[in-house]
Amino acid sequence: MNDTFKHKGLRQQLVNTLIKKGITDPDVLKTIGSIPRHLFMDSSFLDHAYQDKAFPIAADQTISQPYTVAFQTELLKLSRDSQILEIGTGSGYQTAVLCELGAKVFSIERQLELFKKTSKFLPKLGYRPRKLIFGDGYKGMPEDAPFDGIIVTAGAPYVPTPLLSQLKIGGRLVIPVGNDVQIMTLFIRKGLKEFEKHEFGECRFVPLLEDKN
Ligand code: SAH
Repeated sequence: MNDTFKHKGLRQQLVNTLIKKGITDPDVLKTIGSIPRHLFMDSSFLDHAYQDKAFPIAADQTISQPYTVAFQTELLKLSRDSQILEIGTGSGYQTAVLCELGAKVFSIERQLELFKKTSKFLPKLGYRPRKLIFGDGYKGMPEDAPFDGIIVTAGAPYVPTPLLSQLKIGGRLVIPVGNDVQIMTLFIRKGLKEFEKHEFGECRFVPLLEDKN
């Protein structure tokens, strides 16, 4: 597992691309600049690791596009020690971004193969999420709620109610909502039953599927 000067250079170019596309949070940019994304992908894709594109990982899933990771992370507005729930651990890249930013990370994955692979892999790189579980993200993680932020990294046909109810007051849910194409959506919890909704651009994710596999 090596990270060379070439990789570092390519990462800096990727950071510049994200700045051009509108990412402004300096902590998010620094984090993308420091995490070796190529190590989260199969070796045949190493050359692609620092293009701003999604790529296949195991079990027919994808590692999200760096711009999307940066944009969703920005929308969370997390601070050190924020308690964050991620739905769709996948390769663990987004999980690593959240850990690097100092969050207490809880993450759920429904594909057993990916869950096992990523649970072993993250600690090897020094990333220690609070909890990784094999389960169904539609249910959230009630035993560890409430959360300062929840980030869904798969396309949700509808907004799962448990996720809204597991937010702290002031907490933020970032979720792509839709079937074939999704709208990136942010919910901010204003009160027990009050949520402010903001919609951003279109995006495309693999689907959020019911039940674990
Ligand atoms: N954050 C990941 C994105 C992976 S793609 C990364 O950057 O690599 C989306 C992931 O969501 C897939 O791994 C998929 O298996 C998972 N997923 C889909 N439906 C889910 C559900 N209901 N609960 C938990 N994970 C789910």
